[in-house]
Amino acid sequence: MEYEGKYRKDQRLKCDCLVFDLDDTLYPVTSGIGADVMKNIQDYMVQKLGVEESISLELCILLYKQYGTTMAGLRAIGYQFDYDDYHRYLILPKFDFCCLPALFMEALFIRRLAYEKIKPDPVLRNILLSLPIRKVVFTNGDKIHASRALKRLGIEDCFERVVCFETLNPTSPPPVPTDELKIFDIMKHLAHPEPGVDLPKSSILCKPSIDAMLHALKAASINPQTTILFDDSFRNIQAAKEIGMRTVLVGTSERTRGADYALESLHNMKEALPELWVEAEKDEDVRKSSKVGIETSDSIALLFFYVLSSSRATN
Ligand SMILES: [Mg+2]
Repeated sequence: MEYEGKYRKDQRLKCDCLVFDLDDTLYPVTSGIGADVMKNIQDYMVQKLGVEESISLELCILLYKQYGTTMAGLRAIGYQFDYDDYHRYLILPKFDFCCLPALFMEALFIRRLAYEKIKPDPVLRNILLSLPIRKVVFTNGDKIHASRALKRLGIEDCFERVVCFETLNPTSPPPVPTDELKIFDIMKHLAHPEPGVDLPKSSILCKPSIDAMLHALKAASINPQTTILFDDSFRNIQAAKEIGMRTVLVGTSERTRGADYALESLHNMKEALPELWVEAEKDEDVRKSSKVGIETSDSIALLFFYVLSSSRATN
């Protein structure tokens, strides 16, 4: 009821910005990219961090649930890795053929993430372009992934900017000496919590943390009170609601706590949120009328100048 009340109040507010999550929001979960990424994360955990294969899936999911992303969770419990190395591993070439350029290997589909699974979406493109409102992408993913996914969809030019992993986490912290490494056994801790022992915090900022949300909004100069977030994660939706945003849960028609709307697909945006187009048209009318006003004032000023000059010339 708290959210419903807020929503009714917020509905009267103007919307001047739309923020979109990327994965499973701008493209559907049915693409299979999410499942592929999860598999690649498990491979990274096993091959690069030495996690036992038998627990990699469980740990991957558990960290995702606790920290928003598995990557943030891995850092929190003590694993050391370079952020760029992690991201490169998830999407770039499968085999380390240093002699071959990355683009060549991509052309041969020798890479871990099959971006061709993301199909061009001209319907979404038309919807986005028909809305003269600021549009921003806010993803926990890295900039290369965001750029590739948006290009595949054919909507990379529809957004003012992309707020991504690197926006919130610009540099990897320096590695800790191996002999000082201590991994927190989170599975044991959650199964048998020890009194007085808290879950370690992550140095990585990502959704759904409120801090990450506020950082992202600040980075893109976004006012949460006049912004709508579209996201497939109910945790992100709840966090956004807490900081005063209007929210649309994507990928389902069932509204959860914190969601003002629920949409199976962004293709239904116009039917579900016609007021966005009405508001945009009103704004356009106001802009046009104020332009006329300025032009009229300028015309009067020019006329006044002309009369003054003529009268001086006559005298
Ligand atoms: Mg998502």
